[in-house]
Amino acid sequence: MKFGGTSVGSAERIQNVANLIADKGKNIIVLSAMAGTTNTLVEISDYLYKRNIDGAKETINNLEKKYRATIDALYSTDAARQEANTEIKACFNYIRSLTKDIFTLFEEKEILAQGEIMSTVMMNLYLHEKGIKSELLPALEYMKTDKNGEPDNHYIRQRLNNLLDKHAEADLYITQGYICRNAYGEIDNLQRGGSDYSASLIGAAISAEEIQIWTDIDGMHNNDPRFVENTSPVEKLNFEEAAELAYFGAKILHPTCIQPAKLNNIPVRLLNTLDPSAKGTLIGNDSIHTAIKAVAAKDNITAIKIKSGRMLLAYGFLRKVFEIFESHKTAIDMVVTSEVGVSVTIDSEKNLDNILEDLRKFGTVTIDRDMVIICVVGDLEWQNRGFEAKAIEALKDIPVRMISYGGSNYNISFLIRKEDKIKALQLLSSHLF
Ligand code: ASP
Ligand code: MG
Repeated sequence: MKFGGTSVGSAERIQNVANLIADKGKNIIVLSAMAGTTNTLVEISDYLYKRNIDGAKETINNLEKKYRATIDALYSTDAARQEANTEIKACFNYIRSLTKDIFTLFEEKEILAQGEIMSTVMMNLYLHEKGIKSELLPALEYMKTDKNGEPDNHYIRQRLNNLLDKHAEADLYITQGYICRNAYGEIDNLQRGGSDYSASLIGAAISAEEIQIWTDIDGMHNNDPRFVENTSPVEKLNFEEAAELAYFGAKILHPTCIQPAKLNNIPVRLLNTLDPSAKGTLIGNDSIHTAIKAVAAKDNITAIKIKSGRMLLAYGFLRKVFEIFESHKTAIDMVVTSEVGVSVTIDSEKNLDNILEDLRKFGTVTIDRDMVIICVVGDLEWQNRGFEAKAIEALKDIPVRMISYGGSNYNISFLIRKEDKIKALQLLSSHLF
């Protein structure tokens, strides 16, 4: 059971989660840092890189004050308060000890790790105060990546199961999401938002019955509730559909979380801490057929078109184009081709100038900025009739820059202008659901 930052974002929310997990049996509970903490730790690291020690210290002090206040509100006995204060103080003193000299990437990772360490310590002590024999499993003792930065599944499985055996008498287990060690034994992490990935890797390592991701919304919705009224949770998705949605904008689940669950065939259930009895979304191997399930949008997309007479009847043209993106370490999202040109989209302009310079050797290059990918997800097997037509019909008054269909059985993507996004999401909802 994984709980995100807002689910443990205050004393009251921590108590709420504690009540929720207390009677659910001998589960492994994976926690994020309290909401806002990781961002603040990033901020502190930025100050330290810039040698702004005063800025760093002030931010550290303010964050510590917040934790003090949370501890005061969370526990009912002075003994528990004192124990929590001692532990949290040790974390902050550790962060302060890194402000003294040259600041390195390695030290930044150590700072970033403190958020999850603190939230789990606080939860564990709170459960003890409630009389629950919970055991803290330090992620740094079992969660590990290899030389390629990929999870070392064999190591994780072995070490985690050893830890569980060692503490077989516990009522339940608390552990940190996000943090790990790398192949060299240094403290590292699974990238921002990585706690979902932790939960999925842990579920796979213990062959769990189910991986539960608890957030503040009752499952994955069929459209973005910020822009569209009357969205509703999707009851069931298969792993492919969920992966498309997670990647193309449904912020509720980190895309990396799907893979370990899928490989080990462990269902993932998305649930709501604020409404624990709501059904949520179940992600598994089967799905509901011949239906469009959901719509999502991905912002800040740049489209690049390369037109070339030389592409006509030529082979190897696409390879050359793709190699340019590869050499500038830029991932391509959408691709459409015609006989005389190819258009692709990217979601990072970091290396755009270099990419454009290289592409111009192959033809005329034009770009469109501030675009949005609208992704329609469901059972879109090509033999099913009418689904593409319905989606296109919904968007008939919106200028569409690219359409991609048939790449998988689960998605149609449309590239449109940013200013048309909300209208497009609303139109799709009213036509499809
Ligand atoms: N605390 C980390 C972050 O904010 C990891 C997570 O919450 O998933 O990115
Ligand atoms: Mg998250």
